[in-house]
Amino acid sequence: MLSNKDKIFTNLYGEESFELKMAYVRGDWDNTKALMQKGSSWIIDEIKNSQLRGRGGAGFPTGLKWSFMPKDSEKSNYLVVNADESEPGTCKDRDMIRNDPHKLIEGCLLASFAMGAHKCYIYIRGEYFNESVVLEKAVAEAYAAGLIGKNACESGWDLDIYIHRGAGAYICGEETALLESLEGKKGQPRLKPPFPANKGLYGSPTTVNNVETIAVVPTILRRGANWFSSFGREKNTGTKVFCISGHVNNPCNVEEEMSIPLKELIDKHAGGVIGGWDNLKAIIPGGSSVPMIPKSVCDDVLMDFDSLVAAKSGLGTAAVIVMDQSTDLVKAIARIARFYKHESCGQCTPCREGTGWMWRILEKIAIGNSSSAEIDKLLDVTKQIEGHTICALGDAAAWPIQGLFRHFRDEIEENLKKGNYVA
Ligand code: SF4
Repeated sequence: MLSNKDKIFTNLYGEESFELKMAYVRGDWDNTKALMQKGSSWIIDEIKNSQLRGRGGAGFPTGLKWSFMPKDSEKSNYLVVNADESEPGTCKDRDMIRNDPHKLIEGCLLASFAMGAHKCYIYIRGEYFNESVVLEKAVAEAYAAGLIGKNACESGWDLDIYIHRGAGAYICGEETALLESLEGKKGQPRLKPPFPANKGLYGSPTTVNNVETIAVVPTILRRGANWFSSFGREKNTGTKVFCISGHVNNPCNVEEEMSIPLKELIDKHAGGVIGGWDNLKAIIPGGSSVPMIPKSVCDDVLMDFDSLVAAKSGLGTAAVIVMDQSTDLVKAIARIARFYKHESCGQCTPCREGTGWMWRILEKIAIGNSSSAEIDKLLDVTKQIEGHTICALGDAAAWPIQGLFRHFRDEIEENLKKGNYVA
């Protein structure tokens, strides 16, 4: 279990004020200038050595991503922070922003400096109104104290931070849709390549990083890459904020060591599964877009990127959704399918048409008004969508259904007995 002294987000639960005077007490902005004086290459190397992987879902190595940014571009480089947290089950960035915003702002300065960016945008989802107010206040405090703006922290580096509120579209969490939205256009994903590091915001080199990814940077640089990589396993290092919801006694957000066993995470921090571990049916371990895993897998699986991929699921946003024996899994996945249908931007035919089709079939299966042939066709359609779309929303809509088929085909078939389907 991660000890308190090794926690990065020491005010995750808002027990203290978010304001600058308390952020100083928590160690934020402690001689940031000295970290910057070590140089941008040192910062990028330190982040590479820490083996930090992106905390927004994809898990791409952060230092490597930063190293893709051109050093001699004639255009401005940009850092864009993705605070459009919309994955069902996920609420970690929200707590970081409302209770510990200076970690993020200091991270923005260090990351922007490392990548040669003088401007940083934080794109926050529209529904996080209160959080955006806190963030605005914290940014204003940082300007007033000379921590950002001209000659930030007396480092000689200028950095401006802009906060942009989205309008509540899930798809704007996809990095290129986010950039389109930031430019004032419809939030629809772009075809890649070109990737944002070459052609991002306003056609300039851009790196898009999740809130948690940026917020952990100052602590990694202060305490060292070796400290961070001492938690978890090779290539799955560091601490991580998990969001635990569903059929547990104490739903919560908690910072823990990466690679903690899933069972230990739930028992120690969420008060266990309602009715006990044996009452567990399945868990979605990384936000609604990753496939569920049955209890037999949950018994031993480790909460990290590689372990969950090996279990044919994913760490995603580390939002752990627990479902006990009382759960009608077909209904649960039908509800998720409806969400993806609603959030599809409509650019690609397989996603636009397929998400609605899958939702309708699942609703029919849930009430028993379906057939074996239709069930087979549903699985087939998920495979036609997967990998055939511009962005990952198509996969995100297909995977939960594939997970249901992989582990609970019997339960789907069982539903056929409920109704009186006539072919
Ligand atoms: Fe839009 Fe869906 Fe295509 Fe993504 S996969 S670009 S959300 S239609």
